Amino acid sequence: MRRVFIGGNWKSNGDVNFIKNHTKNVINNLNFDSQKCQVVISPTNLHLELTRSLLGKNSKVEISSQNVSAFPDGAYTGEVSAKQLKDYSIEWTLIGHSERRQYFLETDDVVGKKTKISLENGLNVIACIGEKLGERESKRTMEVCFTQLAAIAKNTNDWGKVVIAYEPVWAIGTGKTASLAQAQEVHGELRNWLDGKVSKEVARSVRIIYGGSVTESNANDLITQVDIDGFLVGGASLKPGFKTIVESYKNKMI
Ligand code: PEP
Repeated sequence: MRRVFIGGNWKSNGDVNFIKNHTKNVINNLNFDSQKCQVVISPTNLHLELTRSLLGKNSKVEISSQNVSAFPDGAYTGEVSAKQLKDYSIEWTLIGHSERRQYFLETDDVVGKKTKISLENGLNVIACIGEKLGERESKRTMEVCFTQLAAIAKNTNDWGKVVIAYEPVWAIGTGKTASLAQAQEVHGELRNWLDGKVSKEVARSVRIIYGGSVTESNANDLITQVDIDGFLVGGASLKPGFKTIVESYKNKMI
């Protein structure tokens, strides 16, 4: 069965003091069985090394970048390449988060390029997809998600290194969570798409996680859905309740 995946996306939040306190008080006190649950947190690039240095000695928590350059090393001011992340022993990157798509105009093509270069350099990828409110209201949810997923699939040769995060844009940071049925329906359709377009084995094994206002109040219910393999958590990953969200993996029938 699939190991539960819980990601914490810290976005552009936190100063040195916060990172120290949160890592010491919350992250270093997470209680999980790493055979059954994988936990990956994403501080800003500036705070990657600080966070890593603060993790307990035998910590099972892994660290991810929130972004990666679509280009190799070179004259790309302000970017951090996949090769540099890997060289720095950062094993994960987020790609295609809706905030990158919205504020930094990342297209499916860019998301595809980032996926490709990350996998070529041995990074693991949390690839985000999801529809906007208007797209859901005009019943285009699956069309949008399939198009975004296709751009990732086209550039993926090692599905063992990819986690798909379904994050309806209308649910991110808004306090509006998808209902259990809404989330399960999309996750099930994504798995069917993988079955038809990639392979049965990939559809069976790839983890599809949900993101969008996950909190300690809804995680225990969401995780019971058959095709929800974990969460990408934004705001609530910065709070003590992240510990409860991580522990929701115990409710998963594995
Ligand atoms: C996210 O940043 O990916 C996210 C899902 O944010 P939030 O949990 O705050 O909605």
